[in-house]
Amino acid sequence: MTYRFPLMVVGTVAVDSVETPFGQQDRVFGGSASYFSYASSFFIPVDLVAVVGRDFPRQYRKILEERPIGLEHLTVKDGKTFHWSGKYEADMNAARTLATDLNVLLEFEPTLKPGHEPEYLFLANIDPDLQMEVLNQVKRPKCRFVACDTMNYWIDNKLAELKKVLARVEMIVINDGEARLLARDVNLVKAARKIQTMGPQVVVIKKGEHGVLLFYGEKFFALPAYLLEEVFDPTGAGDSFAGALMGYLAKTGDVSFESMKQAIVQGAVIASFTVESFGLERLRTLRDGDINKRLDDFRKICRF
Ligand code: AMP
Repeated sequence: MTYRFPLMVVGTVAVDSVETPFGQQDRVFGGSASYFSYASSFFIPVDLVAVVGRDFPRQYRKILEERPIGLEHLTVKDGKTFHWSGKYEADMNAARTLATDLNVLLEFEPTLKPGHEPEYLFLANIDPDLQMEVLNQVKRPKCRFVACDTMNYWIDNKLAELKKVLARVEMIVINDGEARLLARDVNLVKAARKIQTMGPQVVVIKKGEHGVLLFYGEKFFALPAYLLEEVFDPTGAGDSFAGALMGYLAKTGDVSFESMKQAIVQGAVIASFTVESFGLERLRTLRDGDINKRLDDFRKICRF
């Protein structure tokens, strides 16, 4: 039996401690897979593969239950939930990591239940060994499009494992600092070309408030960010960008260059809502009308 979720994500479900110039919050609901799945669920149902500890708040699980997010692979283990602590200073484009407590992530062995056969898979920011474990369990070519994300923590600590993952994915969605670190080149065009030689032919480089670059084989596209006067908390912008992007691709079933451009616009719009509050709060009140209005504004801004 084929399962009803064409899109699957593996990543972290976390409790975060976040400090921005607007305030400090402890035990905020976060994690790469949380933001990703919530954002992609505006487009298509998504199967979430992750682990939490016994301390994971019941009300956070309920937030995921609000949306068409499959929780059959959300494992609960003895121990503490993954915890990340970060701080943003005047430059809201990059967080400074203060602490990364892997906790239950250290013993996580994701096992996909029979019948779960995604056509689209996103390996969100998590240990590359876990990305590989999930990738090894999906069937190709039924799973037609695999994309991944990563961050400096894994580039610094598990580069060899990460490179094995990169060799097997169609797309990477990564931020500018991480692209430079991974490719060991400060020029983003050269960095993207080098990353293409590692595997993914589609390289999406996020540049925070400066927008996004798309390298699609030989083709290229750039988009500004949807600019806001107040960015309250940038955490999760990248993951919700990727969630909307993949959600749009899975919904349309079209991974052409033209479709990818549209997907990137959707990603930029959803991410612009995420940063308006701490955690998932703004996405929880988001309605289709809000998304469509912002898409219309964005179209006007970008046309010339
Ligand atoms: P971003 O979209 O890049 O702002 O991602 C923010 C989320 O990434 C936070 O909610 C964190 O819980 C999560 N995170 C931070 N560090 C790591 C890590 N090393 N591996 C996986 N997820 C992480």
